[in-house]
Amino acid sequence: MKLAKRSNIDPSLTLAMNARAKQMKAQGIDVISFAAGEPDFPTPQHVKEAGKKAIDENKTYYTPESGILELKEAVRQKLKSENGLEYGVDQISINSGAKHSVFNALAVLVEDGDEVIIPAPYWVSYPEMVKICGGTPVFIQTSKEKGFKISREDLKRTINRKTKAIILNSPCNPTGAVYTGDELYALAEFLEGIDMIIISDEVYEKIIYEGEHVSIATYSQKIKEKTIVINGVSKTFSMTGWRIGYTAGPKAIIEAINRFQGHASGNPTSISQYASLAALKSPVVFLEGWVKEFRKRKDYIVGELNSIEGVSCTDPAGAFYVFPDVSGLYGRTYGGKKIKDSVELSYYLLENGRIAVVPGRAFGADNHIRLSFATSMENVVEGMRRLKEALA
Ligand code: PLP
Repeated sequence: MKLAKRSNIDPSLTLAMNARAKQMKAQGIDVISFAAGEPDFPTPQHVKEAGKKAIDENKTYYTPESGILELKEAVRQKLKSENGLEYGVDQISINSGAKHSVFNALAVLVEDGDEVIIPAPYWVSYPEMVKICGGTPVFIQTSKEKGFKISREDLKRTINRKTKAIILNSPCNPTGAVYTGDELYALAEFLEGIDMIIISDEVYEKIIYEGEHVSIATYSQKIKEKTIVINGVSKTFSMTGWRIGYTAGPKAIIEAINRFQGHASGNPTSISQYASLAALKSPVVFLEGWVKEFRKRKDYIVGELNSIEGVSCTDPAGAFYVFPDVSGLYGRTYGGKKIKDSVELSYYLLENGRIAVVPGRAFGADNHIRLSFATSMENVVEGMRRLKEALA
């Protein structure tokens, strides 16, 4: 049997590490996981109640493929009041998670031979999605010295006639970089004159420790007309399993996305849409406490990591990951085996330290590993103890 070319996708290293950690746990081995990409808080009670109510009220049927009108309206209001972005409801599409939103956008835009610029380190799924759509991911390598951010000069050097789009992700998974308004506007000023699309993945917008979230689409009408803003309820409301994301952008693109979605997956889950409506329509009183807790863990973990010889960790400004440079540990040996890269180090830490991390290679940065601090402070403290012990 011959599979289609588009099935030739790199397996997700994140999922692979998670699976191995779960397998060890199932065998009774006590593993602390720093691999999770989701908040460890429960979905707020009123959101759960709205989901249950939707079931009891038999809101369990197909909805319009682009989502229920009330939810699109709630997203419209959110984008207006929180992000300063005005859209019509016909410029909004509800999708089955922000991952689906990114994929939909690429699916309707990218053709064979198109290039899509992705700043590296990047979220694991972007390059594979581009490839599935027949495009070529083109990376702009950032560095910790430059705060893991790209500049106007980087764009100037990279954009060419094949460039179809760029994917921006601020706050960034995995680096935690948060672009300032000035930094984004400098990019926007340059991009204004270029015929290409900006896909702005803003799912971590509420998890910020330093600075504030700005959407690049606010720069000018011209930029807004070429930007696809993507967000969702997964990270802000701890609703990763509910699978609701949303897309806002130019009407013609949103219409194409709705057509595509209508045939590919149909409407996002009706029950989750009602739960997301409750989430978006009520004040996010719980968030301050969550971010405070994340910050406490972050400060601890960054301090601990930087106290280890061979490890250097920048302080993330957003999201819930640290992304230390661990290349100073490469070359060390154990049991006659040399650790040469982030994958070997991650497996070493899992098998010998009983902690699960994600190799930086998954994000296009083999000198790093990613640790999520979306796990209890108790786990963070014990995990750091194990890490230090395993590396000693
Ligand atoms: N974008 C980024 C940068 C992410 O890190 C994630 C999840 O980890 C997503 C999108 C997908 O979120 P969702 O759960 O809404 O599909």
